[in-house]
Amino acid sequence: MDGATAFTEQTAKTDFLAAYRIHEKPFYQPSGNEIELYHKAYQHRMPLILKGPTGCGKTRFVEYMAWNLKRPLVTLACNEDMTASDLVGRYLLDVDGTAWHDGPLTLAVRYGGICYLDEVVETRQDTTVVIHPLTDARRVLPLDKKGEQVQAHPDFQLVVSYNPGYQSSAKDMKPSTRQRFGALEFDFPNAEIEAAIVVHESGVTDELARRLVSLAHGTRALKNRGLDEGASTRMLIYAGLLMREGVSPLDSCEMCITRALTDDPDTAEALHQLVQAQF
Ligand code: ADP
Repeated sequence: MDGATAFTEQTAKTDFLAAYRIHEKPFYQPSGNEIELYHKAYQHRMPLILKGPTGCGKTRFVEYMAWNLKRPLVTLACNEDMTASDLVGRYLLDVDGTAWHDGPLTLAVRYGGICYLDEVVETRQDTTVVIHPLTDARRVLPLDKKGEQVQAHPDFQLVVSYNPGYQSSAKDMKPSTRQRFGALEFDFPNAEIEAAIVVHESGVTDELARRLVSLAHGTRALKNRGLDEGASTRMLIYAGLLMREGVSPLDSCEMCITRALTDDPDTAEALHQLVQAQF
């Protein structure tokens, strides 16, 4: 590597660390021994799947772990339009012609970040395969268009999330992908912990948070009986934030829970009754 290239590399690394480092301790309320297990897995840079319903704290957990391990965190929300180039990078036109630009995954691989692919099954299979060589002993990322194989930095780790609850089997993780990961299972925390989270994140009183959590339990019992999923912790926090703004509990829950969860009038009515029973 000549001097100019080394300087460019160093600048890119510094920019990456500045952009993706988590400076403030994220608030994370553990439910079990997930922090300890993650630490053990990270010692081996084991790729991890975080399984669990949407809005139950998976993203917050990775943020907390990245802060705790002092690693930069690259989070990518996956969708079916995402291409391999969106992850690894592409040539782009600039004033000097075309220049290669590393994608977010490549940056994490090169400079030792944790890369978190949220809802990984949403990506197409041809996109998912780019992560395969990173998740076995090779730990390399091939940049085919550039003709480069990036050897992963010793601190790099890949984490993906996946919601087994509502994905159709067509969107299940392929065994060839999932067998490359260790898995941590997440669910909504117990009522006490969930209420504490709602209090912390929305600023409502403990009493209101407990009612919101009871309401959530009612909606979760409707899973597969009109609802694909019950109310998530995130929804309770949204409702709590509106209540803090002076919106009535009924209107807050109608907006953040009932209407957000369903379009079906009968299910909406059932949810409405659950709300009225609490507030
Ligand atoms: P997921 O990634 O599972 O969809 P998130 O991590 O985004 O869910 O959680 C949604 C919100 O709920 C977070 O922004 C946070 O405010 C709150 N939350 C959920 N679980 C926890 C937890 N265990 N500790 C702290 N906050 C939590």
